[in-house]
Amino acid sequence: MSLLRDLYQEVILDHSKSPRNFAQLSDANRQADGYNPLCGDKVTVYLKVEDGVVEDVSFKGAGCAISTASASLMTQAVKGKGLAETEELFKSFHGLVTGKAEEGVELGELMAFQGVSEFPVRVKCATLAWHTLQAALEKEAGIISTE
Ligand code: ZN
Repeated sequence: MSLLRDLYQEVILDHSKSPRNFAQLSDANRQADGYNPLCGDKVTVYLKVEDGVVEDVSFKGAGCAISTASASLMTQAVKGKGLAETEELFKSFHGLVTGKAEEGVELGELMAFQGVSEFPVRVKCATLAWHTLQAALEKEAGIISTE
């Protein structure tokens, strides 16, 4: 399991063991389900969006450490952000994990996922929560698959 040991930096381990905002949001006005069949990761993202701002966000689900940690860090990263800013964060994060990070982009704790870019099969784990977030924002119905 050396691949995983390399990937699991401290912040990923921490968030996978004790995910933040791991609950169903009682006053959510948007939600979406995501599924990554390659790994079996499942996530439901709950959002409360008011006046173009992500007022609150949470998730539930079961998956590998990377998908859980990514969902946890995603909720922290987008809470309180405007929708345009959230979209930009997703683009920057996607660039990071696919090895196309833009110069000078500051992603804070999300930088922990930089190593994922060396393991393409893990990119879907790391981006599942973000794709599901986007689906919830677009109010798409049904289950979102990374395939
Ligand atoms: Zn996974």
